[in-house]
Amino acid sequence: MKKFCLLFLLLATFLFSPLFVSAQSQDINIQRAAANRVLANRYRPTLLKRFLKYVTYNSQSSETEQITPNQIATAKKLYEEIKAMGHNVQLTEHYYIFVEIPSNLPWQVPVLGFSGHYDVTPGIEGENVLSQVHYSYDGNAIQLAQNRVLDPAEPANAYLATQKGKTIVTSDGNTILGADDKAGVSILMTFLETLAQHPEKKHGPIQIVLAPNEDVGRAAEFVEETPYRPEIAFDFDGGSNGRVIIENFNARQEIFTVTGKPGHQSYAATNGYKNSVLPTAVLVTNICRLERLPDQSSDRQGYAEPHHISHPDGKVYITEVDYRLRGYDAKKMNEWEYNTDSISRKVAEQFNVSIQRRTIKNYSNVGECSHPQALQVTQNAGRHAEVELNIESARAGTTAAMFVTKGLVGAYTIFTGQNNPHAYTEWLSEEDMFKSYLMALQLTDEVAGLR
Ligand SMILES: [Zn+2]
Repeated sequence: MKKFCLLFLLLATFLFSPLFVSAQSQDINIQRAAANRVLANRYRPTLLKRFLKYVTYNSQSSETEQITPNQIATAKKLYEEIKAMGHNVQLTEHYYIFVEIPSNLPWQVPVLGFSGHYDVTPGIEGENVLSQVHYSYDGNAIQLAQNRVLDPAEPANAYLATQKGKTIVTSDGNTILGADDKAGVSILMTFLETLAQHPEKKHGPIQIVLAPNEDVGRAAEFVEETPYRPEIAFDFDGGSNGRVIIENFNARQEIFTVTGKPGHQSYAATNGYKNSVLPTAVLVTNICRLERLPDQSSDRQGYAEPHHISHPDGKVYITEVDYRLRGYDAKKMNEWEYNTDSISRKVAEQFNVSIQRRTIKNYSNVGECSHPQALQVTQNAGRHAEVELNIESARAGTTAAMFVTKGLVGAYTIFTGQNNPHAYTEWLSEEDMFKSYLMALQLTDEVAGLR
């Protein structure tokens, strides 16, 4: 009896030990990931079919129009498709598509957000896209229309060389393909379809937004009119090869206005005339000592560039310098602002002019305002989904970085399979698009496990 009690005690200790609990949850994770792969494989043909359909929707945005009729038509089609799946979907006044899926878990987990954009760049031809699917790609250079060639031997196309035997998609060469971001849209739409058809799949609250006008830099413009407020978020608009962008530059415009006094130069000694160009030159020279110029900056270094100088309304006694300030570290940028203030005060005093500075925050580093467990969640999702991830930092902005300026959580940018965006030689890796969709399913599981 005594022996039995001891055995029972030992067993109970083991069952409730952290080792057993973590081994058990590890097992559940592996089972779920395997189930996700089975599920994802079933939707793989649908995903490609969907992509081939969406690239035929011309949804080019425009630098001059608030929204193009083609974008409106595309938004309406996507909206109807989501509605037909049975989801709760809204199409907002400025054509943002918003989908809300309530949690089916008995406990609380963070709200998960996915985003993408349905517009395509207006930069090159985008009407009547004729996609070409290269099943089991032979690895040779692809001859496109108008003597355009997609050549895997070119260093810029090195990744294409790895796609031999896989499925890739190009346009016929007369237009863009539009994988940027029809790949992301196809992934998210197929994800929505998967959840609609598999209500047994456990997940927390999910919000999805599809934005217009991303390729003209205005994806965040009216995002606040949607209820999109996730606590952990991912943007499906990245490249290929498992790339995940977890941080980007902060971008600020710092505009210094140097105001002298108008008057005829000949009588400057008596009429109070004050030139604005010389103090501006001195100001710029001194500020340039504070931070690197773009051509001196690489890797993790930021830069400050006096981008352009102008006289507002042609008034030469006022000179404006538009500085572009870029860097990962917002604190360092605040220091720069502080130091330029003291420089400008000294210059203003020296030349007896007034100098004002105003700041426009263009975008922010998602890495500085993402969910504290975002990196862990992403890495776990990659490991469980058996997708090799390449975690990267971008020396530029992302759509998610623009969302941050509207107070949204910082989102990582997930690869979608798009390559050579905004070019006639744009192409899609079907395998990467599929892996990205699998990541969406797996990220959903990982976030559902955040208690
Ligand atoms: Zn894009």
